[in-house]
Amino acid sequence: MMFKPQTVAVLGATGSIGQNTLNVIAQHPERFTVFALSGHSNMVQLAADIIRFKPRCAVVPDAARYRQLLELLPDQKCSVLIGEQALVEIASAPEVDTVMAAIVGAAGLKSSLAAAHAGKKLLLANKESMVVAGALLMDAVATSQAVLLPIDSEHNAIFQCLPADQSQIGVESILLTASGGPFRNTPMAQMFDVTPEQAIAHPTWSMGRKISVDSASLMNKGLELIEACWLFNVSPEKIEVVVHPQSVIHSMVRYVDGSVLAQMGSPDMRTPISYGLAYPDRMTSGSEPLAFSQLLQLNFDRPDRARFPCLRLAEEAMAEGGTVPAVLNAANEMSVAAFLNLEIGFMDIPRINEQVMTRLGRGAVESIDQLLEVDRAARAQAAVQIQALR
Ligand code: NAD
Ligand code: MG
Repeated sequence: MMFKPQTVAVLGATGSIGQNTLNVIAQHPERFTVFALSGHSNMVQLAADIIRFKPRCAVVPDAARYRQLLELLPDQKCSVLIGEQALVEIASAPEVDTVMAAIVGAAGLKSSLAAAHAGKKLLLANKESMVVAGALLMDAVATSQAVLLPIDSEHNAIFQCLPADQSQIGVESILLTASGGPFRNTPMAQMFDVTPEQAIAHPTWSMGRKISVDSASLMNKGLELIEACWLFNVSPEKIEVVVHPQSVIHSMVRYVDGSVLAQMGSPDMRTPISYGLAYPDRMTSGSEPLAFSQLLQLNFDRPDRARFPCLRLAEEAMAEGGTVPAVLNAANEMSVAAFLNLEIGFMDIPRINEQVMTRLGRGAVESIDQLLEVDRAARAQAAVQIQALR
């Protein structure tokens, strides 16, 4: 079959989603041309990928990384750009058809929004941008007719299980599955002393450090609940979190006639990434076929909101709406970083998140600049709380 190659920009190319994306693209060289790659700290990886995929440009955060990258690329034809504005330019460049938004945290917000405004096919892994600015992002998609495809495995599953026109016809509710993370059965008393190594050792998925800690605290499920409300235009009461430790069902949609549609597969992000890249077609991803003969059982349970207060905080933040989810997200980025830095304990993460959420003011969402200001204020407040615990 002949394809007009899709031109792709991979933002956050050096991370877990970015590397999985390049792995899928490499399996289908006739379908994709890589236009741009961005990396934040791992210049060795970025240089190797530039040599391999020959993008027209690359983006790094600062002059030091720029020099480091150029040393690794003696005779490169790739123009290297610096800073957040360059990410925005690449996300909206006329040459680009598809943007993989795989930066971690609110740092991906401006570039995700730029891709939406520019009407790109936007493959959204960067869930934090939806949590912080769902109203603005969904507005931009609607106005520009961008094609927004969720890459988060749960949301990709829900997208696949909804009616093909993404209408809500006959939809009763959404069942958002959660593995439960590594501490699902850890005695409560031990939860205060768990280490970053234990927290990032996820039982079923291999991911970046921040999302791995979020999965252990169930903040990831909270962020995903908020993400799902925006993506699928539903209220939080229409979403039920179901703990499913095997991570074989990636989420489900319940219909009024009693049908429940599930999307299943091996826990491998290359499946949702391939779905997004090939959409509306399908193509191979390299993931292992699900072997039903080896699947002993599928288990389901309710989430424990007392053990995992972050899930409750996210539910409260979404119910309050406005700028509150942005506050929670910023507080969480700070508390997770402090935990990974051994400055605070694991159970201090929900504590700090809640303190910041209670202390900061609330308001309706007005603009991106306002949200960035809220993000800054919440980070400053979180820094004070973290300092007080050290
Ligand atoms: P990661 O830490 O492995 O990679 C993050 C990428 O972002 C790297 O390329 C890094 O260089 C870049 N980056 C970090 N800070 C940056 C900054 N300030 N400015 C610009 N770039 C920056 O993370 P990941 O696991 O690949 O996750 C990426 C996003 O995808 C997150 O939002 C995460 O929640 C989401 N996601 C990941 C998975 C997964 O399986 N890893 C699954 C679902 C959703
Ligand atoms: Mg997910």
